[in-house]
Amino acid sequence: MSFGPVSPGDHPVIAEGIISRGAWALIEDKFSDFAKKTLANVVHFVINDCIPAAEVYEAQISKDPSTRWKVVPPVIEELKAKAKSLGLWNLFLSKKHYPDVGSPLTNLEYAVMAEVTGRGGHFASEALNCSAPDTGNMEVLAKYGNEEQKKQWLTPLLNGEIRSAFAMTERFIASSDATNIKTDIRQEGDEIVINGHKWWISGAGDPRCKLHILMGKSDPNNSSPHKQQSIVLIPADTPGIRVVRAMQVFGYDDAPEGHCEIIYENVRVPLKNLVKGWGCGFEIIQGRLGPGRIHHCMRSIGTAEAALDRMLTRATDTRKRTFGKALYEHGTIVADIAKSRMQIDQARLLVLSAANMIDRSNAKGAMRDIGMSKVVVPTMALEVVDRSMQAHGAEGICQDTPLAAAYAGLRTLRYADGPDEVHIQQIGKQELKRAKLLWERQESVEKKSQKHLSNAGIKPRSHL
Ligand SMILES: Cc1cc2nc3c(=O)[nH]c(=O)nc-3n(C[C@H](O)[C@H](O)[C@H](O)COP(=O)(O)OP(=O)(O)OC[C@H]3O[C@@H](n4cnc5c(N)ncnc54)[C@H](O)[C@@H]3O)c2cc1C
Repeated sequence: MSFGPVSPGDHPVIAEGIISRGAWALIEDKFSDFAKKTLANVVHFVINDCIPAAEVYEAQISKDPSTRWKVVPPVIEELKAKAKSLGLWNLFLSKKHYPDVGSPLTNLEYAVMAEVTGRGGHFASEALNCSAPDTGNMEVLAKYGNEEQKKQWLTPLLNGEIRSAFAMTERFIASSDATNIKTDIRQEGDEIVINGHKWWISGAGDPRCKLHILMGKSDPNNSSPHKQQSIVLIPADTPGIRVVRAMQVFGYDDAPEGHCEIIYENVRVPLKNLVKGWGCGFEIIQGRLGPGRIHHCMRSIGTAEAALDRMLTRATDTRKRTFGKALYEHGTIVADIAKSRMQIDQARLLVLSAANMIDRSNAKGAMRDIGMSKVVVPTMALEVVDRSMQAHGAEGICQDTPLAAAYAGLRTLRYADGPDEVHIQQIGKQELKRAKLLWERQESVEKKSQKHLSNAGIKPRSHL
């Protein structure tokens, strides 16, 4: 499973073939001893505990429609207990940005750990209490919640006792432009009343989901389109919340968590459930969507690595030969393997640089790098998984390998947390800002060039 010869002193991240020697050489000296030890334990835990539990997890999801959304696979709670006892818990929450509750890891250090969990299917990150949407929700509560809100919701989330949902996207609204959000939030006496129609709300089907963090419009006439929104905390059992159905991604419903359509009808919560203040909704979602996007990206790189590993074992399976050769003896397969290797390694460097930027500044300062990763990584991982599926023949798209589910999961990332085009537009706009400086530089070079030409007695090029 390793890239090249392994020596006894190699960190498990190299010995187990998790990332390339080159990438590790770039970042190793940025890792504390604690981070190196934790990473080694994450590698060990994912390889020895999570990956072998994947089939049990699938089998324990109820197939009976009456209990499908009521039963949590027991194996996940067993894995959580083990991870917690090993100290592999809430690793995503960096102390640098969350001094009170964070773990002593940088985003760069955690990024590699997230990649490892991406190899273990979507439940490996949950086993470490590092899975979406809880991670982003915990960040919201840690950053913007008051002491009472933290005590009521953040503490049980940090303990892994409850789960949560983040409700922004709306059924009849183009929600990638968050200023469009229409759900009505208004104050009545000492209560907040919520009316709206959301969908794709991840985690809301889970019996452990006890909290909806909802964004709606509280001041539609405010002259600033970014001050019209507010965020409220809604206990999941509040009267007026109706989970209509679980949406399916290519037929997968992702039970028991689900991505749900939900109607909020005259839902009432106390005024104290407002987060930060009226009109702060936009600011909060901006703050929520920084490091979380990188976590998705790193996990996706782990998923791509796992797909490439599978492709290598299928291509070298000499029992399954075509036209007299094993697959690896066909040039197109070798080229596909090489393309996947190159794409994964390129994408990893981009994400590591984004994680490093978050550590050096904050999510806002790293927006450009985060946006590029958010666009590049899911597309890259989809291509890698697609090649692996192709090499497996029909087996690659059926239920007998995790490839089809991985493909569906990765495809959703081209929408979730904003579609590619929105990020591309931002990246392009940022890039265009450089044009002014380039014009100035060009004019200065032109002037100096004219001077050199005239000193050398050479006639300037004629301009058409
Ligand atoms: C599996 C899954 C889980 C999700 N989980 C959650 C969740 O937990 N909570 C939540 O609130 N939402 C969630 N979402 C919703 C997701 O965030 C939205 O789907 C996404 O923001 C896009 O919004 P929309 O679907 O309304 O698309 P629209 O806003 O209708 O956009 C449609 C398309 O228009 C194009 N487009 C948009 N803007 C531009 C532009 N500037 N330039 C060019 N083209 C553009 C894009 O191709 C885009 O896909 C989830 C989605 C999926 C698939």
